[in-house]
Amino acid sequence: MSVSEIFDTMDYGPAPESLSEAMAWLDGHGRAFGCFIDGAFTKARGDFESRNPATGDVLATVTQGTAEDVEAAVKAARKAQGPWAKLGGAGRARVLYALARGLQKHSRLFAVLETLDNGKPIRESRDIDVPLAQRHFYYHAGMAQLMEEELPDRAPVGVCGQVISWNFPLLMLAWKIAPALAMGNTVVLKPAEYTSLTALLFAELCSQAGVPDGVVNIVTGDGQTGALITEHDGIDKVAFTGSTEVGRHIRRATAGTGKALTLELGGKSPYIVFEDADLDSAVEGLVDAIWFNQGQVCCAGSRLIVQEGITEDFYARLKRRMDGLRLGDPLDKCIDVGAIVDPVQLETIRAMVDGNTEGETYVAACAVPEGCFYPPTLITGLSPAAQLMQDEIFGPVLAATTFRTPSEAVQVANNTRYGLAASVWSENINTALDIAPQLSAGVVWVNGTNMFDAAAGFGGVRESGFGREGGWEGLMAYTRPAKARKAVKQVTAFPAGKAALGTLDRTAKMYVGGKQARPDAGYSQRIWSKQGKLLGEVGLANRKDVRNAVEAAHKAAGWGKTTGHLRAQILYYIAENLSAREAEFAARIDDLTGAKGGKAEVVACLDTLFSAAAWADKFSGEARSVPIRGLALALREPTGVVGVLCEGASPLLGLVKPMAGVMAMGCTGVFVASEAFPLAATDFYQVLDTSDVPGGVVNILTGAHGDVAGTLADHMDVEAVWSFSDPALTKRIEEGAAGNLKRTWCPVGGVADLPMREVLEAATEVKTVWVPYGA
Ligand code: NDP
Repeated sequence: MSVSEIFDTMDYGPAPESLSEAMAWLDGHGRAFGCFIDGAFTKARGDFESRNPATGDVLATVTQGTAEDVEAAVKAARKAQGPWAKLGGAGRARVLYALARGLQKHSRLFAVLETLDNGKPIRESRDIDVPLAQRHFYYHAGMAQLMEEELPDRAPVGVCGQVISWNFPLLMLAWKIAPALAMGNTVVLKPAEYTSLTALLFAELCSQAGVPDGVVNIVTGDGQTGALITEHDGIDKVAFTGSTEVGRHIRRATAGTGKALTLELGGKSPYIVFEDADLDSAVEGLVDAIWFNQGQVCCAGSRLIVQEGITEDFYARLKRRMDGLRLGDPLDKCIDVGAIVDPVQLETIRAMVDGNTEGETYVAACAVPEGCFYPPTLITGLSPAAQLMQDEIFGPVLAATTFRTPSEAVQVANNTRYGLAASVWSENINTALDIAPQLSAGVVWVNGTNMFDAAAGFGGVRESGFGREGGWEGLMAYTRPAKARKAVKQVTAFPAGKAALGTLDRTAKMYVGGKQARPDAGYSQRIWSKQGKLLGEVGLANRKDVRNAVEAAHKAAGWGKTTGHLRAQILYYIAENLSAREAEFAARIDDLTGAKGGKAEVVACLDTLFSAAAWADKFSGEARSVPIRGLALALREPTGVVGVLCEGASPLLGLVKPMAGVMAMGCTGVFVASEAFPLAATDFYQVLDTSDVPGGVVNILTGAHGDVAGTLADHMDVEAVWSFSDPALTKRIEEGAAGNLKRTWCPVGGVADLPMREVLEAATEVKTVWVPYGA
């Protein structure tokens, strides 16, 4: 092409990135890789091929990790963990820093290899994936340095099993490995079958950077290898990124094993454009939201929701922009959209789009190369319930619908089972900041999209999973309380004594929606003192009682919108009213337990209420130092409806401690009272009634925990289940939680030793709201 022709067309010429260094690295390994275990590569077995999706060429062969490989990796990681933790934060910081520097030094090699293996444009791997991976190691070098000073009560979890997907092979690895190592853990990581190469290059970098043998182990393979890792007895914590379906499977498979778990799953993130938005910026934002990485992004803005008045104008601008997108060789620096990761994924996208019969489909009028490429596509006029509005396509396909009012925008945006991210576009800061907290999403971008940073937590709510990666909150998953807590002794009710029938006919009611409630089935249970005296009767809750209580808790969701100041006042008021009846409650507890701890327990309850009240307007969040001109706000949001199986041994504190945390953070709860000693909890609702607690915020049930644990865990409208009850129930709770991927918390140790801060952590989830400054 002549210079004058270029002037005429203003077309970009090709600007290919050299692949010679990457090819030399592959050749240096004979284009065949084993696993990286205990600081060395195992013998390559050539089990499967890793291909360049843009050309179909085989790049190398990779080894399918077997049970023996996983065993060896876990063993090496176990052996290395103690010394790695003992090295101390400052020692680990040096190693993480060396990894960051190594990533920087070899950044071009990593970027080219990533693009070759995954098909993403080199501009993205070079300018986003690799720099962000470096940033994670720098940031977490700092976290390692600060651990002893800032997290003195936390210790490493141990050996972490990490399984990641193919869409950000190196970046996901960095998100997983950097915080784990910083906190003194060791890892066994499995990259996705399609994209193992940068993980193997990283393994080599570990050796160069002075990572001790066994601290980082990379076991390649497919889902079977993944399952061998996540289900291995020697793994203390599982961290997974991938599909909701596999995430759910892992939740069930790890239930009751005591393994800590975080899941970063799929999404169908809304992209809301108000009519007062800067429309050209919003269109440009969409290029990043849905055509970045060919739309194979868990937080892709794949659901466009446009205000009705601007729909035609916005669609017209968008289509014009789509036509200008450049598809092609991912190694060409002028390319916007690269190759789909694999023909299997291409077929999935095709089948989903071809199977759609609703709305109008617009395919960008840009040249589409032969092979594993899919054109940018817009489907408008879809109803919010349409399959393409609900299901993750994981490709360059944007599904669109419209809204009229801000409240309808929120309604449509939240009409999804996912909750990973959301974008809000409006030039009116009031509108944007009014909408952001109402969106069910772990991350909200105001007038922007796909902003990430190591200092800002990333992760989902609902079926997008739980746990955060990045920020202080991301460290929680890689640490545990430093002081081992003693398991609390399980208590059983005292055996029946001799009571003349008819001497007492008052059954303590349950407490649902602020009113006393009779048990649905009409069954009750007598409660006896140690000396065989009849203390009272309580109803036995069944699944219907649980459902009624959950419904009442949901109706009281407005509690989450009240101010921390108001919630603090009500908690103080509860304390004041309890204090007025201190002697009566102390006597009740003594009668129930047959011991003399009643007074101390009431005092502990008062203390707990004061502590929760103190935190109610302080455990809020902070602004994070991210490298943009703007704010990244880490906001603590209430988890929602929490079901609690209260501790048996502490009739009142077992209720009051979790309740105080739940209330302070704006959650509502269904509390199943101590099974053995329930009468202090049923007395307590009189205190709630006189303390201005809105109906439904606290619901109290009585009965056998085993009868209701499953109903609570399976309930799709319960967002979290906490159990301080019999550890034998944990497995059932964690299995049931897989349904809607609710959060579970079944801590070891009694409520008395539990710091209020941990209760507040469990009652909240961090939402990151990004607000860039200026135009
Ligand atoms: P998967 O959930 O299938 O895989 C993610 C990782 O888990 C891979 O390493 C995979 O192995 C491994 N794996 C598969 N089965 C098991 C198992 N039973 N136990 C343990 N590990 C297992 O997601 P994919 O990457 O295949 O993508 C499929 C869909 O998932 C996408 O279409 C998209 O909807 C969603 N997705 C979401 C992502 C996110 O970031 N939230 C990222 C990627 C995908 P291998 O693939 O090597 O066989």
